[in-house]
Amino acid sequence: MKTAFGKLTGSAVMDKVAEYREVGRDAFLAQYAGGVTSRTTWLSVEGELFPAKAIFAAAHVPSVAPKSFNTSDTYRYSRELNFELVVIEKGRVKSTRSAIDDLDELSGSDVPTKQLYFGERFIRDAKVRAKVIERANGKCEHCGGEGFKKPDGGIYLETHHIISLAKQGPDSEKNVIALCANDHREAHFGADAEHLEVQFKSKLAELNSAKKRRITRSAD
Ligand SMILES: [Zn+2]
Ligand SMILES: [Zn+2]
Repeated sequence: MKTAFGKLTGSAVMDKVAEYREVGRDAFLAQYAGGVTSRTTWLSVEGELFPAKAIFAAAHVPSVAPKSFNTSDTYRYSRELNFELVVIEKGRVKSTRSAIDDLDELSGSDVPTKQLYFGERFIRDAKVRAKVIERANGKCEHCGGEGFKKPDGGIYLETHHIISLAKQGPDSEKNVIALCANDHREAHFGADAEHLEVQFKSKLAELNSAKKRRITRSAD
């Protein structure tokens, strides 16, 4: 999409989210945001929160400072690029993207953030993520392609909630699939995303029944 300063794409945003996960918060903010960014507006991806303005600024072409984006621009970019934005004030969720579309409904709903995105859910999320990556054994569970090698020798794959947490999808291995970066982008931004969702579901059902068979056999 075009912004007031240049160009921003969903795929570039996902690249920066992946980079943020790899390098960590401090290194990311030091590189792209002079070490600081808004603690109010957050991008929710796969149940994890990322500082929206810093991610958008880093993904922007040409690169800009996070403070170039005001909050209403940030809303608009999230909406147009199909991301979910979460606004947190004083430790509480003030609104989510759906609230921006329909302000009356959710704004000021005052849901404790812990219940939604922080704390236990985040920790559980990390465990589910690790288990799914282990299950995938270095290969995309959709196309079978191998992820690329990381500097630490591990294989790079991404995890995707087939039914998103925002849509009340369960935070369990049965709802999370390991994907190559390309398939993950398509799952979020492709014209065929709905069809992919169906394929992912049947793939996981297959994996789960294979696992059950293995367990039954070893019990014999
Ligand atoms: Zn793939
Ligand atoms: Zn995803």
